[in-house]
Amino acid sequence: MKLYFAFSLMALSVTALAQVKIQEELFIPGKNPEIVKELVDTGSVIIDHVTSEGFELYGSQGLARYLDDKNIVYLDMKAINEKVLADYPTSAEISQKLQNAAAKYPHIMRLTSIGKSVKGKDLWVMKISDNVARDEVEPEFKYISSMHGDEITGRELTVSLIEEIGEKYGRDSEITELVNNTEIFIMPSMNPDGSDLKQRANANWTDLNRNFPDMTRDTQSSPTGRQIEVQHVMKFQNERQFALSANFHGGTIVANYPWDSKYDVHPLNDLVIELSQGYSNLNPEMKNSQEFPGGITNGADWYIVRGGMQDWSYVWHNDLQITVELSHQKWPPYRDIPGFYQDNRDSLVYFMKEVHRGAGIKIARPGISGSVVVKQTSPAVKDFGSYAFKNSEFYKVLPDGDYTFTLTEKNSAASKAVNVRVEKNLISSNGNYIELN
Ligand SMILES: [Zn+2]
Repeated sequence: MKLYFAFSLMALSVTALAQVKIQEELFIPGKNPEIVKELVDTGSVIIDHVTSEGFELYGSQGLARYLDDKNIVYLDMKAINEKVLADYPTSAEISQKLQNAAAKYPHIMRLTSIGKSVKGKDLWVMKISDNVARDEVEPEFKYISSMHGDEITGRELTVSLIEEIGEKYGRDSEITELVNNTEIFIMPSMNPDGSDLKQRANANWTDLNRNFPDMTRDTQSSPTGRQIEVQHVMKFQNERQFALSANFHGGTIVANYPWDSKYDVHPLNDLVIELSQGYSNLNPEMKNSQEFPGGITNGADWYIVRGGMQDWSYVWHNDLQITVELSHQKWPPYRDIPGFYQDNRDSLVYFMKEVHRGAGIKIARPGISGSVVVKQTSPAVKDFGSYAFKNSEFYKVLPDGDYTFTLTEKNSAASKAVNVRVEKNLISSNGNYIELN
């Protein structure tokens, strides 16, 4: 009774979503989120993965007691996680696998820790490229998985992808061409503490995918006051020029495209739908989804997410990102992981290649920053807005067509316009860049 009382008090006060403590992880069967609407409206709980089978409900201690009192049926996901996740590697074992791959393929792989988790575990990122020790001007791509610690399938699949790239480089022409002309960054585990604790949140009971700057409530992308794992990813993103990315979750099977935080149409709506559909088409179970036509969904149409990584990466970093849900169970039996890899392998490779569907400018002088106005001239005349760039390079993933990029350097009144063409299924040597002096 005491716990229930504590929860009710919290539910009555309006709590910012970013501060919701996730100590209880429940699944409510049935398609009826209205039964907890009262709770959702207070901002004291988080809902996720609403499907016809039910939805997940996260909140602080006392949530289950609260539902008991209201006679609402639920399953305790943490208790289920404990059993099944016992078969999975620990985060220390994942670290070892990544170190082994970096040691085995040093010519194309370099492993870096971008910082430490709340509990001091390394947040590893594998860079994969030819001339891996050099920062070349090539289109930059990234995958990040398992910021929800219990959504574990993506961690396993991204490690498998790293290992396959290592084995196939120099033997398989598709993989070799991709690695030679792209800078690929893969982070299998953004929340190692959560994965080891077999829980969604990080070690501070915080949902990392509700903790990023959000365009609907933040005017700037400031790391202040955010969880340490989010701060490290923000700094990492800030140091690079990612143009295309995906982040992996579990709980259903679908490719989710922006926006998540508002109902407006994304400026690259047709392209991001095509890319999501491209991912789904190569994954038979996703493509044939009964729940989501074609295996894709707009984020906000599904349910609103505030403070997610996906919208933040495009709004502040010109990095077009989708969110891929890989498995109905967040914790499928470990023996099923090779099957999930088979289902997703072609999609994973396809999506990385699509970073070449864009164009860029590189400037011979180092350290130049400024802005680029992007305008399509054919097949239609269309404005794609203005984007900041730095480190003398700019690159943007775009729909096929002809474009004018008008570049203005910082502290300069003069602009320079260049014409570029974007074509699909074309990997240019080191990327499609126009070089300027
Ligand atoms: Zn998730």
